[in-house]
Amino acid sequence: MREKIIRFMQGRYGSDKLSNFMLIIAFILIFVSMFLGINGFILSGLGLALVVLTYVRMFSRNVQKRYAENQAFLKVYNKIKGFFTRQLGYMKQRRTHHIYSCPNCKQKLRVPRGKGNIMITCSKCHTQFKKRS
Ligand SMILES: [Zn+2]
Repeated sequence: MREKIIRFMQGRYGSDKLSNFMLIIAFILIFVSMFLGINGFILSGLGLALVVLTYVRMFSRNVQKRYAENQAFLKVYNKIKGFFTRQLGYMKQRRTHHIYSCPNCKQKLRVPRGKGNIMITCSKCHTQFKKRS
């Protein structure tokens, strides 16, 4: 049985980050649709369609195209993830630091809190500006 599966999957694309992501979204859609009763049929239909699409991709022999799809997905995914990671970082720093942007070049500058009025020198363009820390 195991060998049969291995033989079946030979030359086929298999799973990747995109298929994992699609299955998670499908699961969420189907899960949410269960609470909507009859009105949830569109969501559960979408979820099932996603599951089918995921398996079509996994069993696909067009490895290059599937790889390109995954790369395009990762590009967007990492951008969104990076944005939230940065926001989380700022939130953590906000307790101990102020973050100002340079009036000249918009470079984000981090200064410690509670030092009164201070002159800030931009690390990028060396513009000086006064702020309360
Ligand atoms: Zn600057």
